[in-house]
Amino acid sequence: IFLLLACSASIYAQKTKPAKIKPRNEFVSELMAKMTIDEKIAQLVQFTADGTVTGPKGGDNFIDEIKKGNVGSILNATGVEYTRKLQKLNLDNSRLKIPLLFGYDVIHGYRTIFPITLGETASWDLDIAKRSSEVAAAEAAASGVHWTFAPMVDIARDPRWGRVSEGAGEDTYLGSKMAFARVKGFQGEDLMATNTILACTKHFAAYGAAEAGRDYNTVDMSERVLRETYLPPFKATVDAGVATFMTSFNEIAGVPATGSKFLLRDILKGEWKFNGFVVTDYTAINELIPHGFAKDSANAGELSLKAGVDMDMVGGIYLKNLKKLLNQGKVTQAQIDDACRRILEAKYDLGLFHDPYLYNDEKREKSTIYKKEFLDAALYAANKSMVLLKNNGTLPLRKEQKIAFVGPLVGDDWNIIGSWAATGDRTGYATSIQEAVNKMITEKGKVTFDKGVEIVDARKDMMQKALDNARNSDVIVAVMGEFENMTGEAASRTNIDLPGIQKEFLAELKKLGKPIVLVLMNGRPLTLSWENDNMDAILEVWYPGTMGGEAVAQTLYGINNPSGKLPMTFPRSVGQVPIYYNHKNTGRPYLGAKDPEQKYKSRYIDSDNSPLYPFGYGLSYTKFEYSNLKLSSNTLNANGKLKISVDVANTGNYDGEEVVQFYVKDVVGSVTRPVKELKGFKKLLLKKGTKQTVEFEISSDDLRFYNIDMKFVAEPGDFEVFVGGSSATGLNDKFVLVM
Ligand code: BGC
Repeated sequence: IFLLLACSASIYAQKTKPAKIKPRNEFVSELMAKMTIDEKIAQLVQFTADGTVTGPKGGDNFIDEIKKGNVGSILNATGVEYTRKLQKLNLDNSRLKIPLLFGYDVIHGYRTIFPITLGETASWDLDIAKRSSEVAAAEAAASGVHWTFAPMVDIARDPRWGRVSEGAGEDTYLGSKMAFARVKGFQGEDLMATNTILACTKHFAAYGAAEAGRDYNTVDMSERVLRETYLPPFKATVDAGVATFMTSFNEIAGVPATGSKFLLRDILKGEWKFNGFVVTDYTAINELIPHGFAKDSANAGELSLKAGVDMDMVGGIYLKNLKKLLNQGKVTQAQIDDACRRILEAKYDLGLFHDPYLYNDEKREKSTIYKKEFLDAALYAANKSMVLLKNNGTLPLRKEQKIAFVGPLVGDDWNIIGSWAATGDRTGYATSIQEAVNKMITEKGKVTFDKGVEIVDARKDMMQKALDNARNSDVIVAVMGEFENMTGEAASRTNIDLPGIQKEFLAELKKLGKPIVLVLMNGRPLTLSWENDNMDAILEVWYPGTMGGEAVAQTLYGINNPSGKLPMTFPRSVGQVPIYYNHKNTGRPYLGAKDPEQKYKSRYIDSDNSPLYPFGYGLSYTKFEYSNLKLSSNTLNANGKLKISVDVANTGNYDGEEVVQFYVKDVVGSVTRPVKELKGFKKLLLKKGTKQTVEFEISSDDLRFYNIDMKFVAEPGDFEVFVGGSSATGLNDKFVLVM
């Protein structure tokens, strides 16, 4: 596995020989000089091949529209054969033979499915994020797909929101690093290579801050919070060279993102100099009407183009209205030309003008999908994404123990893949936990498997059989969680407990007096106070993907030592939400148990303020001890650097990996600052009984924020430093920034 990591960079590199044509600028300018206004507008139009909304008329009319030369891009068409057929239809019928661009949601894998993005982020391993995107791109590109709608980089602090599963969690720093790595993975060094695709950063912007965690809901926040917390992961993808951006469904401060000139023209294309193209989210231009921002579809089209939207996803609004709007003088030729040029440039970069069938090779498709090294990479990622939330020593299991595996997800090979998996028919493509354990434990009678309950209901005999087997075991392992469709788009929950009757079943199992391990498969932080009090061990496995069953078996039996750390805070109860580690102090800060007087002034009367499991938290089968925190100096100068070092020792009985986290607090500012902010992390492999020194470095640039005048600067003064294995534990020291 470690070897695999080391040589991953070169595994997927392939060379292609696209035909020689003129350089991009010249080529696109010459082409545009020949294009009519209708041909230009067509480039701005995306239809869907799945027969759902498909433009102005609905139904399957995308075929007619392709024949008429009205389409620049197709959503949801995949496979070499099908995309070739559509491409040919387009080329045969269009005057200038401009290739179609095929887009598809390849979020955490195309056929080989990796853990959901939130789970993968728990690895805190940027190589894994990059590699899973490389594999996704290689498989998708081999299957005729040119463009994925990923990475999703929305910062999310509200686990009620179903889409937290698709992103990197609550932290801006970690989210930005992951976002950068994912773009590099999808796009590689050369977009013309036949194993890379265009990435699309989404959803611009602040979609994750939807009020009450309800999908698509209103967002309102200060520009400071927007720029400091929500925008940096987007900017990181521009720095990584991302080719496209997607607008979000929500409004921000009264302006829907899809009509926001401030976001698209001023920030993205202006300040950040983004040269790629912007696509809307699904029919988001049409949605400007119910938002109450546009009075009709023509008005919606006008506002979007002016705001900086280049491509209309599936809504049919640009196709129907842009020419008329141009004739009426409501939009300009320059605005249409700019959008058209950006889209043609992306097609050029992919090599589609060199060869429109560059991604249509049946042989390559066959030999690429489910390659052995892709499956190995997915297993590696799944192992590294598991987070051990509690363990009183019950884990790891021993092969000689008699284990009763129970729970609705123990034999599941469907939900284990998670939402937004592009597999098409998913049955039979993932290994279930049951299958994997059976392969590993061959001695007869050592393991039993019973669902016991479904997630939402139970039959008495089903539960009885499970209880009987559990009664005769040494340890019970309950595999429970959410159906995959309880997370993802339009899947917000008001109650984030373990759903259905699973907890009741756990309570029955508890009465047997045996140690219980709870294995959780879910796409968001859940409220687990009862489980934390009553279970002997809890292992969070998210939706671990195609190889997830194997990874869970390897982790339970100690072949893999869990090393994941939470990318999102787990609350004690839903009433604490939103809850995140880098909050501000109030004037009556919560002082924990230190000062009972204050404590009661600054907390709920029915709950502690602190979360159940903080951001950055995760246990191991071994133990790590931190000591000897040292700063190279107690002052940092404007142009200087400060080194922070700490010793980490593995004092337990297993080799293991630890994510060492480095946080900073700016004590006094011209605007108030969070109680701490992540500024660095390093993942170490430590053999048992060994110790390593870890070093971090910061400069004043790392301490910048939007000050009272909205200037992005560092302010002199006192800073605190924290280094540890989570956001809530560790060693601390101080320094002074002198400017
Ligand atoms: C989602 C996007 C997705 C798009 C295309 C939308 O409903 O919000 O994330 O990329 O559909 O499938």
